[in-house]
Amino acid sequence: MSEPASAAIKADYDAVVVGAGFAGLYMIHKLRSLGLSVLAFEAGSGVGGTWFWNRYPGARCDVYSLEYSYSFDEALQREWVWTERYPAQAEILRYIEHVADRFDLRRDIRFNTRVASAHYNEPANLWRVETEAGEAVTARFCIMASGALSAPRKPDFAGLDDFAGTWYHTGHWPHEPVDFTGQTVAVIGTGSSGIQVTPMVAQQAKRLFVFQRTPNFSIPAWNHPLPDHVQDAWKRDAAQLRAKAKATKSGALYEYGQRGAFEVSEEERQREFDARWARGGANFTHAFNDLFKDRAANDLAADYVRGKIREIVKDPAIAAKLTPTDHAIGTKRICVDTDYYATFNRENVTLVDARETPITRITQAGIETSGGHYAVDSIVFATGYDAVTGALTRIDIRGRGGVSLAEKWQDGPKTYLGLMVAGFPNLFTITGPGSPSILTNVVMAIEQHVEWVGDCLTYMARNAATTIEAEPKAEEDWVNHVREVAEATLHVQANSWYMGANIPGKPRVMLPYVGGLGVYTGICNDIAADGYRGFAMARAG
Ligand code: FAD
Ligand code: NAP
Repeated sequence: MSEPASAAIKADYDAVVVGAGFAGLYMIHKLRSLGLSVLAFEAGSGVGGTWFWNRYPGARCDVYSLEYSYSFDEALQREWVWTERYPAQAEILRYIEHVADRFDLRRDIRFNTRVASAHYNEPANLWRVETEAGEAVTARFCIMASGALSAPRKPDFAGLDDFAGTWYHTGHWPHEPVDFTGQTVAVIGTGSSGIQVTPMVAQQAKRLFVFQRTPNFSIPAWNHPLPDHVQDAWKRDAAQLRAKAKATKSGALYEYGQRGAFEVSEEERQREFDARWARGGANFTHAFNDLFKDRAANDLAADYVRGKIREIVKDPAIAAKLTPTDHAIGTKRICVDTDYYATFNRENVTLVDARETPITRITQAGIETSGGHYAVDSIVFATGYDAVTGALTRIDIRGRGGVSLAEKWQDGPKTYLGLMVAGFPNLFTITGPGSPSILTNVVMAIEQHVEWVGDCLTYMARNAATTIEAEPKAEEDWVNHVREVAEATLHVQANSWYMGANIPGKPRVMLPYVGGLGVYTGICNDIAADGYRGFAMARAG
């Protein structure tokens, strides 16, 4: 299949891949294993994606290291040694770099190269991918591995250019260590990134102001070194454990409660929450099977965490401000922290309520709010991302008839399985909108997508198909299904980035598929087994 069967114009490559994070790297490896030629473009100067860009102090993942790693290669899995339960950014990056070296992936990646456009040339059945520098290549297939959390929300505060100090975005952190010693620092944002960076900056800075607009729920990580016996046991049973994880809702081996919160006595419920708080991490939100569906059940879990905040934070007024009341626990991405709430007991840390006294502008000397001015030396923006669709709509992607993807998605993304878009033949999106993606252990969602795409390309080659495209009706049905499943949960009530609510003007749509990775994988596999139902395939000629 490395020769395009139909084309009057020969493609430069069988496939172009955009991005060299977990998704892009595995995609390159997979394409090569199918005997296809591939070129990848990566805006960064190295591999790693999220873990290349997010070098802020405190950055680490909140899925166990043994699970937040590739499963596709048995020897890799056996040989790599993790040091911690939740590894820090540097260790994850080292792992990804090791994978790139081990499989010799870098030779097909063009670094420091941002893709500006991808246009489908209909008569030739090719994608023409052009970089910001003006270089263009053609390929039969275009695979977007551009990330669901890779388009940082540029701080749009008035006056930022006047700021005389230094500012940072957590998602675009410098490669050199940043030293806040002796400084007065502002952190703006209290999502997962803000919650990780705040305790670290507090330890260094002379003074820290944390600007919080909306408080978030956070569960302690209780991170610790990974004992050898745990690692050895995992490796012994890895195949079985991975299969089990992939069949779950979240692609991770959480203990998924099998009963509703009201099906147990108050004492038992308390014991369950206590045990999960003591174990730490996102496992907490799986204590009972109705926490994402029943607000009254959810309130029990939320109240438990609210109680913990009151216990940890000494000043009741500050504790009250840190206590989330606007959303059900878990409907915004649950945060996992090390000493976040306790950080507000420090004398050098001040919580600023950016809801009561919103930030009005950045000045030369600091931050102006409706309640006063805060002079600072540095600002850390932990203000998040244009999630799931942002990296895609920032590229000028055009399908049949020159239709732009951004225009097609004006009222919300429309995909079939989060993998393909009607009108955009031979364009695949890894962890695209309408797939489980960021509701899961994302590495497992990535592997499932890459493997599905690989199988699909193999099927096409066997059947001499040169084009695959989502059928409009299949896409419409999938979009409706994604919406219906989401509407049966509490997710749709929250002003979260899952719902596009963090970006002014973004349509209010639940971006990922809430049905769970295991269920979703079954659907994808059935569709493939049924001759790629809902996809139109065409041969050359
Ligand atoms: P990315 O890692 O985002 O890689 C995409 C790459 O595409 C980037 O390097 C980007 O530069 C490149 N790119 C994008 N657009 C272009 C373009 N136009 N031209 C060229 N290159 C482009 N997930 C979990 O499951 N567990 C966690 O604990 C977890 N922690 C996270 C912590 C942080 C701070 C963040 C931001 C995300 C976290 N995630 C976590 C989600 C994480 O993004 C995924 O787990 C995973 O790393 C995504 O891999 P990816 O390859 O799909 O995307
Ligand atoms: P985020 O969850 O979107 O949080 C952004 C924060 O910035 C919010 O608190 C938001 O407040 C605030 N903000 C935005 N604009 C503001 C303004 N004008 N004034 C004041 N505050 C403002 O982004 P994130 O923290 O970067 O996390 C994004 C996702 O990345 C996470 O949900 C998670 O999936 C992943 N992540 C994971 C980890 C991990 O522990 N594994 C760590 C970091 C990131 P509002 O809520 O009021 O909008």
